[in-house]
Amino acid sequence: MKNVILIAPPAAGKGTLSKLLSERLGYVSLSTGDILRERANEDDDLKMMMKTGKLIDDDTVFEALKAKLNKLGDTPYILDGFPRTVKQAVMYDELLKSMDKELGVVIYLDVDKEELKNRVVTRLVCPKCKASYSIRNEKLLPKKQGFCDSCDVELVQREDDKEEVFNMRYEEYLEKTAPLIEYYEEKGVLNRISETEADKVYEVASRMVK
Ligand code: AMP
Repeated sequence: MKNVILIAPPAAGKGTLSKLLSERLGYVSLSTGDILRERANEDDDLKMMMKTGKLIDDDTVFEALKAKLNKLGDTPYILDGFPRTVKQAVMYDELLKSMDKELGVVIYLDVDKEELKNRVVTRLVCPKCKASYSIRNEKLLPKKQGFCDSCDVELVQREDDKEEVFNMRYEEYLEKTAPLIEYYEEKGVLNRISETEADKVYEVASRMVK
């Protein structure tokens, strides 16, 4: 199995796809958002930055990710939310080169802005296992209203899932992350998925990673 990079606008389903690939194919999922949220519990400045929807500086994110990657060994992994800038992509390329490793496959989830905004304001997450639910989409409703199916913990709205914050995150995405599409297209490793339903996205993605 190839290592996977997921590139997508906010709320396009990176987390959900990453979870399905991990559960069904045995990948380890590395979400820089989750790694940073964990750190933000002990770092108020970081917490504030994340609340506004701004990207965190490249060096901080790269160091945090590198620490996790070093512990992984040869287990195939998914980068969920990294790289988010061309600088991060270049840093990652250099790291792979120094380790004599392949880049793997890049999957770009191509979802329309209005659909994304709608998802964000109806999304609830489990604070424990990070599973994502929706109060709008029947297939993503929790079995017991307001509680995680796996952990039975009360679901919460993410701090950055407010409409104003979404708009800011989307602008950051267009300005800083979208250029990665061309970056990876030029390398010939970009795979686009335009499906929006989680199982269909998984079906297409699982063929790309083999
Ligand atoms: P996510 O859970 O992937 O939507 O990320 C949540 C937040 O974490 C983002 O809005 C950024 O503030 C921060 N973040 C996550 N990954 C990165 C990254 N690769 N570079 C910079 N900031 C990031």
